[in-house]
Amino acid sequence: MPKCTGVLQVLLTLVLLAGVSAAQQPAGGTLRQIIPGHYVYSAGTFNSGIIATSEGVVVVDALGSEAVARAKRQAIAATIGQPVRVLVSSTHHNQYSKGNLLYAGALKIGHENYRTDLLGLMQRETIPAEEQLARLPTVTFRDRMTLHLGGKEIRILHLGRAHTRGDSIVFVPQDRIVYLSELLFVNQFLFINDGYGLDWLKALDAVEALDADIFIAGHGPIPADPRQTRQDLRRFRQMLADVRDAVQREIARGATEDQAVASVRWSQYEKLQGYEAQRETAVRRLYRQLTGTLP
Ligand SMILES: [Zn+2]
Repeated sequence: MPKCTGVLQVLLTLVLLAGVSAAQQPAGGTLRQIIPGHYVYSAGTFNSGIIATSEGVVVVDALGSEAVARAKRQAIAATIGQPVRVLVSSTHHNQYSKGNLLYAGALKIGHENYRTDLLGLMQRETIPAEEQLARLPTVTFRDRMTLHLGGKEIRILHLGRAHTRGDSIVFVPQDRIVYLSELLFVNQFLFINDGYGLDWLKALDAVEALDADIFIAGHGPIPADPRQTRQDLRRFRQMLADVRDAVQREIARGATEDQAVASVRWSQYEKLQGYEAQRETAVRRLYRQLTGTLP
């Protein structure tokens, strides 16, 4: 097994160096304090938020494997030294939910659509029933819920459909910080296979209106000065607006969906990770939503 892991590590490194696969999530990562009591664990370009209180830790997104979840739990134990009490899960996608298995002792919270869509995903992938149960949230909510832990008010909010139809964000008003999971991509093109671009824009406007200074992305680097994350949020919103506007122009001139796919390019974003893989999907999802044919 160790020999095998070593070979995989080398292969993974080669793949990452070649820039081929953005989807690979390394098993190891780094834990960084953003402000006192708030941390981000990053495995490659994937981020998980961590809120430390005197009564225990809240984790936002478990990430994509038991291995990464275990490494993260070890880093939390070594650096923060408080038990993990709550896991809040935002997206059901495997890269954020496979690690849920490592949270058997925690309260697991997700939006009701998160639970439905994670269950559907696991059934399609014929995951064993026992593993399905272990990954599902034990508590669901519809619009919002609030945790009171160690003197902190921790708000879990669903801002409508965005990256999926079951996203959550986690806002700590007294520390003016909000964890956005996959609502925010930094230095990457948006991933919108299950996303709703028009609602996503509204959700980002609601995020911008929060009394917050720090916006933690689910994907990409966190700047040295965490207050610069507001610029990341604005840049990403602009990208989504540019995506929408280009597709809207095609619809206005009478293009079919396939014609829009053939002609829409966003040259300003073509160098971003994920652009080639997601360009067509972005056109199709926006086209369908703008023409009222997306369920
Ligand atoms: Zn996702």
